[in-house]
Amino acid sequence: MSRLVVVSNRVAPIDEGKQAAGGLAVAVLAALKKTGGIWFGWSGTVVEEESQSEPRRTDVGRLTYATLDLSRRDFEEYYNGFANQTLWPLFHYRVGLIEVSRRTREGYKRVNGYFAEKLVPLLSPDDMVWVHDYHLIPFGEELRQRGCTQRMGFFLHTPFPAPEILVALPNHRELIRELCAYDLVGFHTHVDLRSFADYIRQELDGEVEDRGPEGGMLIHAFGRTLLARAFPISIDTENLVGIAETAMRSRHTQRLKESLVGRRLIIGVDRLDYSKGLPQRFQAFEQLLATYPEHCNRVSFLQVAPPSREDVPEYIAIKRELSELSGRINGRFAEFDWVPIRYLNKSFGRRVLAGFYRTAHVGLVTPLRDGMNLVAKEYVACQDADDPGVLVLSTFAGAARELDSALIVNPFDIEAVADALQRALTMPLPERKERHAAMMRILRSHDIGWWRESYVDALTRAPYG
Ligand code: UDP
Repeated sequence: MSRLVVVSNRVAPIDEGKQAAGGLAVAVLAALKKTGGIWFGWSGTVVEEESQSEPRRTDVGRLTYATLDLSRRDFEEYYNGFANQTLWPLFHYRVGLIEVSRRTREGYKRVNGYFAEKLVPLLSPDDMVWVHDYHLIPFGEELRQRGCTQRMGFFLHTPFPAPEILVALPNHRELIRELCAYDLVGFHTHVDLRSFADYIRQELDGEVEDRGPEGGMLIHAFGRTLLARAFPISIDTENLVGIAETAMRSRHTQRLKESLVGRRLIIGVDRLDYSKGLPQRFQAFEQLLATYPEHCNRVSFLQVAPPSREDVPEYIAIKRELSELSGRINGRFAEFDWVPIRYLNKSFGRRVLAGFYRTAHVGLVTPLRDGMNLVAKEYVACQDADDPGVLVLSTFAGAARELDSALIVNPFDIEAVADALQRALTMPLPERKERHAAMMRILRSHDIGWWRESYVDALTRAPYG
């Protein structure tokens, strides 16, 4: 079996026992353990001198971690700049937020070239290279330009926007040419896949061969043939079910339950990001209390929102907006013994969250756009099958394509989200159980192992030309 080489912006902590490791890290490690291989990427360290160093290598059994530092300038242009101020808002349909600058685009290309340069000497001819996410779109082309002929796959963890949105990016054609240097391009949903195929047809006059729902689409463009396919990412379902059961006895969960004194709980868990629809979500909860006052002093809303990308101005703005909004809503409805919104700017470990999810009667997941949204899947997996909570889910989350037994909402329609909350809070047990069972069937058949294996299997079959 060929060795796997995984390339991602960040490499997960080398201490495998760490609880903090997220779903992607677990999946990548499982794939790497099977085949042996390398996990290559940025160390997370920013240094004052130019990025020139050789990769730092750590061997753990058959697995090598190889990481590089970034200079301050590279970090600003590649990571904060083009990746997070241009591509992130663009891919989340927020054209009004994109920063366009030749300097950051060049920085993005330069860092991808630098990473590729440093990976080439570590590669063997029969390796398979699996590149992750929007930070590294040009990486495959940079490898090819350095003579690499290995099978190369890319997986996009964000949405892929409709062509009408993508063309707002100057030189969008160049970005898609870079994407087409891979043999396999994976998206979360068929919606993203269709947007990519539409771009190929409309903007490039390329050819698209639809091979059916599980077969993906063969793309002929820029003189190459590649396979584009949807691989919805998922969670370690069975493992999380077990964690949630034991988490009910944990001190954190007990403290949360005691603090509710019999009130019901709505939970939201999101990185503090403008794509998550948090202001609209807070307003929907406010609307619930205003329209259905019987919930006043009977329901609490816990929003966990750890800050992220705090060097980017839009993230500073959304943080301020949410502090003000939660303060205003709490000021309007709070009683001396009840605060409606518990808004927390900190993160919790997976085990603690599992207990919180299981305690909550409603999981409120209302991004304005999201590639997948794993929190939606985690919330469902953590429920007690005999008395499950209800998931209220945005139609614009990739997860809504699979979890269609959730209460699906339009997150922009604040009154409709308030009505969905009312319906969730009053839903009879048989309906809750039925919806939960339907979603669990999907999460069990399509877990993170399925995602990893189906992607690696498709990459093994490359090239497609
Ligand atoms: N998460 C966590 N602790 C927190 C908040 C979030 O471990 O305090 C995890 C959460 O359980 C999920 C991931 O971070 O696995 C977020 O993934 P998601 O797809 O929902 O959103 P993203 O942050 O990737 O946009």
